[in-house]
Amino acid sequence: EVKDINKNYFTSYSSFGIHKEMISDKVRTDAYRRAILENPSLLSGAVVMDVGCGTGILSLFAAQAGASKVIAVEASHKMASVATQIAKDNGLLWSESSNEGKHQCTGKIEVVRGMVEELENAEHIEPHSVDVLLSEWMGYCLLYESMLSSVLYARDKWLKPGGAILPDTATMFVAGFGRGGTSLPFWDDVYGFNMSCIGKEVVENAARLPLVDIVDGCDVVTKAQVLQTFDLVTMKYQEMDFTAKVDLEPNWDTPSDLQTELNSKMIRCHGVVLWFETGFTKRFCSEMPTILSTSPYTPKTHWSQTILTFKEPIAMALGKQVGDGTAVVGSDACPAVRIQSRISIVRGAQHRSIDISMELSAIGPDGRK
Ligand code: SAH
Repeated sequence: EVKDINKNYFTSYSSFGIHKEMISDKVRTDAYRRAILENPSLLSGAVVMDVGCGTGILSLFAAQAGASKVIAVEASHKMASVATQIAKDNGLLWSESSNEGKHQCTGKIEVVRGMVEELENAEHIEPHSVDVLLSEWMGYCLLYESMLSSVLYARDKWLKPGGAILPDTATMFVAGFGRGGTSLPFWDDVYGFNMSCIGKEVVENAARLPLVDIVDGCDVVTKAQVLQTFDLVTMKYQEMDFTAKVDLEPNWDTPSDLQTELNSKMIRCHGVVLWFETGFTKRFCSEMPTILSTSPYTPKTHWSQTILTFKEPIAMALGKQVGDGTAVVGSDACPAVRIQSRISIVRGAQHRSIDISMELSAIGPDGRK
């Protein structure tokens, strides 16, 4: 079954459309390009391994940056042969040729077909011989597709002690969003007609399954919190499954969608949005540290954001509270001051999927839940 899932997964990477989408994601590709080309002391003369090279774009950058050898590993047969052709067409394919009895190497990129976990037979690559491990492994909500484990595998098997990993950190963030982050406003007014019944149904469905969609920074109504950070140099496999507790507090700098009492502002939090950043930090990229961000506040990427919608919005307010102490915390009659949340993300029973769960408590001004 795992074999079938892997087969489907690698087949999905055999179509060019997905590679076009990734390469045209300028935020993504420019971040990698900057990290690779603008840190010459890291890359020049280095032996590089690109885990999941696809078209080979990152390997081409690495060769351009002066790497002495780039091992480009790709499990999709189709993409491995395409990457070989591309490296060749750009005069960068590594090949051994004998010239008057002398051994000569031309080019730099060697494409190795297969899963990085199954390279045992690549006899000319020595374990722990790689200076720089390079990979674009991130999925939706960072961990969907679980390609991170392949990078950790490559780290433990092929990277030199003290070798570099690009990117070397990954951080997940969470924040609450308001009505504008849902599809309710869209259906409220369609060419002047009320189609809000669709909006209601969409939100009901969204409360059951996470959505991948764009949330605009101006629809974020709480302060952002770090959900989890990963250090790719030291992290263990088990860390990919985690539970984190975060407190969400209103961000009064953002425009509120409701203005109530004279001196109390109210917002309604309709759900939480998750996003990630990966860091090419100064640990390895000392000349030009770089961050690849998929946040609602920065230009959008093909990852969008991940949205978890609440069944009911939670009202939150600042200032003097209304209510008689018996109203449900988080209702308009007793707005919450913060939302306590517990979010866990674990690799799914189905290989490559992830299971996300969330528990919430709205905390009232008197500490009542
Ligand atoms: N590096 C390219 C492609 C990134 S997409 C770019 O930046 O544009 C990830 C690629 O990794 C896909 O082509 C997929 O087939 C490949 N891949 C995923 N897991 C792999 C593994 N375990 N071994 C080898 N290749 C893998």
